[in-house]
Amino acid sequence: MISSKKYTEMTEGELERELAALRQEYERCATLGLKLDMSRGKPGADQLTLTQDMLGVISTPQDCITENGLDCRNYGLLDGIPEAKRIFSDLLGIPMQNIIVGGNSSLNMMYDSVARAMLYGVYGSVKPWGKYDKIKFLCPAPGYDRHFAICQSLGIEMITVPMTSDGPDMDMVERLAASDETVKGIWCVPKYSNPDGIIYSDETVRRFARLKTAAKDFRIFWDNAYCVHDIYGEGVSLLNLFNEAAAAGNPDIIMEFASTSKISFPGSGVAVMCASDNNLRQIKSIMTIQTIGFDKLNQMRHVKYFGSADGIRSHMKLHADILRPKFDAVLAAFREKLAPLGIAEWIEPKGGYFISLNLLDGTAKRTYELCSKLGVTLTTAGATFPYGIDPRDRNLRIAPSYPTPQELTEAVEILCLCSKIACAEKLIG
Ligand code: PLP
Repeated sequence: MISSKKYTEMTEGELERELAALRQEYERCATLGLKLDMSRGKPGADQLTLTQDMLGVISTPQDCITENGLDCRNYGLLDGIPEAKRIFSDLLGIPMQNIIVGGNSSLNMMYDSVARAMLYGVYGSVKPWGKYDKIKFLCPAPGYDRHFAICQSLGIEMITVPMTSDGPDMDMVERLAASDETVKGIWCVPKYSNPDGIIYSDETVRRFARLKTAAKDFRIFWDNAYCVHDIYGEGVSLLNLFNEAAAAGNPDIIMEFASTSKISFPGSGVAVMCASDNNLRQIKSIMTIQTIGFDKLNQMRHVKYFGSADGIRSHMKLHADILRPKFDAVLAAFREKLAPLGIAEWIEPKGGYFISLNLLDGTAKRTYELCSKLGVTLTTAGATFPYGIDPRDRNLRIAPSYPTPQELTEAVEILCLCSKIACAEKLIG
């Protein structure tokens, strides 16, 4: 019989018997032919259907005319249509003039921003970042694997900064940023961080606003991807770094990003970038070579469908109603099956798209592998750290949104079983 006693308090004999029982169960599950995916933060089909009617909101030529009289079907408006800027301005608390409404992906805008800095520098740079022998980025981890991939692909050295329950370890951020002129940036997901679901505390945001950096052209890449993605009520509100930085006399330090990928359609949503006047002037002077403008018809579709920032906020409640039972199912299974054994820790997020599970050191890869063999796909172990290397090999990112509730229940059952096997194996040595 599988035990519910703390593994760390079991004798070796007890652990051996436990492992034998777990392996028997594993063999049974191997016959089920499962194919379940908890690897990527994709909305489920029912979430996508919530916004289906958006596809029909533009039907006449008149629907395509912006409030300043421009035809969205034609070239123009590099930085986006004013009515879309207004909605994002309300949503993010940033003036319209400091917003560029872009194409379908904020990740694309982030990649372009770093690549542009490598080629041209940012406002205030003495030379392009690519002209240094080496530049470095601070990477709070666990973090978003695709941020790290941008650095790796552009040859930017990554320095891991541990996450705390208030956000990145700010003592370390301040020390590293102040001491090295080649430290040029930091990645932050300040609200419902990917994967921990942490909201940065007011003090963390204030310390970012006042950050003293050796580099005159240091930038905080503030990826506010989950700005309205509350699942359990309103959640704790995030202090506005754009305002705080301006008030601290540091307005150029922030580049903020967001998108409607997980509000409307991932891949067919609308992305935004926000920055100071100085930054936007420099960015637009280069962007205008790259494109004549983004997809304004899609921007207009979003404006007509949501109407306002409040329209988006109430729409997000519908997403929350779909996501909440899924998060509940994962968290309940962890509480019931893992908590008593003393082999796992996690933060219970109040929004966002992920749950981050920390197992005993040295067991995440093994758990991932055991799950894969049973047909349960997780985000690759290690992916939440720079270079794909989790120094303690303990973190797994769970994305509960895509599977159906039934699939999710089965998948979490397997995950708990595999976590137990990996931890029992580890303790036996
Ligand atoms: N930023 C974070 C933190 C994410 O988790 C994701 C997707 O999972 C993205 C950005 C991607 O955003 P977009 O679809 O706007 O490119």
